Amino acid sequence: MIPEIFFRHLEKLLGTSRVITDAIKLESVSKDETHGLASFLPDVLVQPTSANEVSQIMKLCAMHTVNLTPRGAGTGKSGGCVPVQGGLVLDFCKMNRILKIDIENLIAIVEPGVILADLQEAAEQAGLFYPPDPASAKWCTIGGNIAENASGPSSVKYGSTRDYVLGLQVVLPTGEVIQIGKNTHKGVTGYDLSALLCGSEGTLALVTQATLKLLPRPRAIQTAMLAFASEHQAAKAVTAILQGGFLPKSLEYMDQASLEALRASGSANFFPATSQAAIILEVDADNTENAFASITQAISLTQNHGVLQTILAQDEKQRRQIWDARRQLSEAVKRLRKYKISEDIVVPRSKIPDMVQALKELSKKHGLKTCAFGHAGDGNLHAQILFDELSEKPTVDLLLKELFQLTIEMGGTLTGEHGIGIAKQNYLPLEQSEEVIALQRRIKKAFDPLGILNPGKFLPPEK
Ligand SMILES: Cc1cc2nc3c(=O)[nH]c(=O)nc-3n(C[C@H](O)[C@H](O)[C@H](O)COP(=O)(O)OP(=O)(O)OC[C@H]3O[C@@H](n4cnc5c(N)ncnc54)[C@H](O)[C@@H]3O)c2cc1C
Repeated sequence: MIPEIFFRHLEKLLGTSRVITDAIKLESVSKDETHGLASFLPDVLVQPTSANEVSQIMKLCAMHTVNLTPRGAGTGKSGGCVPVQGGLVLDFCKMNRILKIDIENLIAIVEPGVILADLQEAAEQAGLFYPPDPASAKWCTIGGNIAENASGPSSVKYGSTRDYVLGLQVVLPTGEVIQIGKNTHKGVTGYDLSALLCGSEGTLALVTQATLKLLPRPRAIQTAMLAFASEHQAAKAVTAILQGGFLPKSLEYMDQASLEALRASGSANFFPATSQAAIILEVDADNTENAFASITQAISLTQNHGVLQTILAQDEKQRRQIWDARRQLSEAVKRLRKYKISEDIVVPRSKIPDMVQALKELSKKHGLKTCAFGHAGDGNLHAQILFDELSEKPTVDLLLKELFQLTIEMGGTLTGEHGIGIAKQNYLPLEQSEEVIALQRRIKKAFDPLGILNPGKFLPPEK
């Protein structure tokens, strides 16, 4: 129970109208985009407008031991922003200003509630490039991207959000506002606390401002879609491209069930009817000649792997069509069955063909439909488990556990982008030793001695 005095202090700080306890508004922040996750109502919702307000709110929570859960746009896929233990949800939607695009120093300074697509556009208008490109770019926020270390198709070449975070202004769970990291592209002073915060799922500190690295915008881009006679051949083609010494901007894989989903939704006109899998290949370069030479060479490396058709996008419109099909995939797959569990395992790139095969075998063994697509160039596969009846859930859980075990045996990791959150908390010990988990508990305690910042996330409950 939150003491009444806490609400009075909060009202004094923000004004009564900004302390939101309306049931419908609380309901709207009780979940994220994780499939099949229950919703959890907070007691109160606030939308601060400055780091100073965030600090004052955090101090109040510390004074009254009230849980605080940070929230960006709520597009997360592991329950990270869900207030599982109630308390206060702090929504960053009103701290959404791009403070600076510094062309001379190739940096951007932004508030955490900035929508990723807005930053990408602002950088582009300045002739620059902010590479992290999760498919949720039109909705997700920079704060959420930092907390989840988000990435997308271009991470094969350009890495993930962590690679672009230079410095952060953060509010600690005790309320102090501090600056960590640096404003320069290079620097090695002290522990890399900014890097630690990337992917920390909002459990260590609240990001109130970020200094991000920008790159010069590549001048030319070439995109191709290749259809294959079998999934195995497509997966082998992925490894052939990477082994050939190419680092494409993007290298995406789609299996047979993915193509089935796209066909059912009318978005697979490019593929011959006999194709069982496809890859999207994209390269960028300083000029069109280099980009064309590079993609032609990469395509040539796939030709012994059962390619049925290669479409090289002739213009921006065709390129968009290819990527639109890829972006629609998640929704299209959802329509194949009533329920969908979406995982984002990563295996070493060379193991992609083995993982594609292993998922097929798990599907057969458990009598469940599965589907795999994703950033194969990174070894990051979005494995989907599809089912119609809730009574099938125990079998789904069994399949998931075996999938995670196989992932670890292949030298992989449980999550490439979406984080552990509450969705995969129970599986963490499959990957991390007791000692590593204990060390992370100590780090959490050093930042958050009262355990009030986003409690109940990622670390399994203590026995
Ligand atoms: C259709 C769709 C496609 C997606 N595709 C991708 C993809 O390609 N790649 C990818 O990586 N992800 C993807 N995602 C997942 C999701 O968009 C990302 O995890 C994103 O980074 C979440 O941002 P958000 O603003 O919605 O954060 P939220 O979901 O609101 O929160 C995510 C985490 O960030 C914390 N947080 C938020 N703001 C702050 C802050 N200022 N300080 C501290 N902690 C904070 C929250 O507490 C929570 O733990 C996709 C999601 C959807 C729905």
